[in-house]
Amino acid sequence: MNDLYDILICGGGPAGLTAGIYCARGGMRAAVLERMSIGGQAALPENIENYPGYGHIGGYELTDKMRAQAEALGAEILYDEAVSFSLKSKIKKLKTAAGKEYAARAVILALGAGARPLGAPGEAEFAGRGVSYCATCDGAFFREKVACVAGGGNTAAEDALYLARFTKKVYLIHRRDALRADAANVKKISAEPKIEVLWNTVVTEIAGGNAVERLKLKNTVTGAVSALATDALFVAVGQTPNTAVLNGTGVKLNESGYICVNEHMRTNIKRVYAAGDCTNAHLKQIVTACANGAVAASTAIQEL
Ligand code: NAP
Repeated sequence: MNDLYDILICGGGPAGLTAGIYCARGGMRAAVLERMSIGGQAALPENIENYPGYGHIGGYELTDKMRAQAEALGAEILYDEAVSFSLKSKIKKLKTAAGKEYAARAVILALGAGARPLGAPGEAEFAGRGVSYCATCDGAFFREKVACVAGGGNTAAEDALYLARFTKKVYLIHRRDALRADAANVKKISAEPKIEVLWNTVVTEIAGGNAVERLKLKNTVTGAVSALATDALFVAVGQTPNTAVLNGTGVKLNESGYICVNEHMRTNIKRVYAAGDCTNAHLKQIVTACANGAVAASTAIQEL
């Protein structure tokens, strides 16, 4: 088989899988390269209720349906990680962690984003010993225990709601006096008796012995310092785009590291497109990631 792909899609989350579906239907020889597991961050939530067409669906189930659809239509799925890119010439090349080289006439970057660290002392020391960045992955370890969630966005709210189902008590620690999360999540938080929101509060230190035992907190209004006993801290203070791998490639990033795209999902490099959470697109949702993937693929198909 010819080693040249028409379109290589880096990232197997909703953006990349949708791009795969559109590229395959557009008659392109396309592959989706995924470094870990298909679905990316979107595979993690136990319950998604804002993806149109499904009242409630698990993240794994939804993204696995996307994978199956992409594969059935002819997109290849390659489990490997792109570790370096050469994007400026007509034929784009990338090297992978497994030592392979791929070439394509166009590339769609759908690299996703990952949890941003809190930056508090003790965070790195207790990572995996009570500090976690994924409630659906690690929450079950804290059955009938006390858990804290730091953050005020949709991830923090949904993590707190998920943890409330089996922990004894959840503290949602937010630096302001209002959550950033959607109204639907705010309403659920207020209705959940196991969740106590600690407003105007930040975590200044994570402490313990073999595992997390307590947090040092500071009130952002009064400056008062306190200690809170807990078994876990789930950090949900935002995202960082997975774009460090693009350093030196010439792909333009904004000041926060997101890939700059226009409304056609073009980057500043010809025949290099981007989609989903790694881009500077405003709304970060599964549905918008899918939409970005569809636009990136159709722009790429038109331009090839
Ligand atoms: P986010 O929306 O950026 O929220 C981050 C939260 O962490 C904010 O409340 C922020 O406080 C707080 N924060 C940031 N830095 C902090 C620090 N150093 N110390 C303490 N608190 C800090 O991030 P996200 O919740 O991970 O969500 C990312 C994107 O995915 C968002 O667009 C979100 O809507 C989307 N998402 C959607 C769903 C859904 O639709 N169901 C689910 C999950 C995520 P401030 O509010 O004061 O800035």
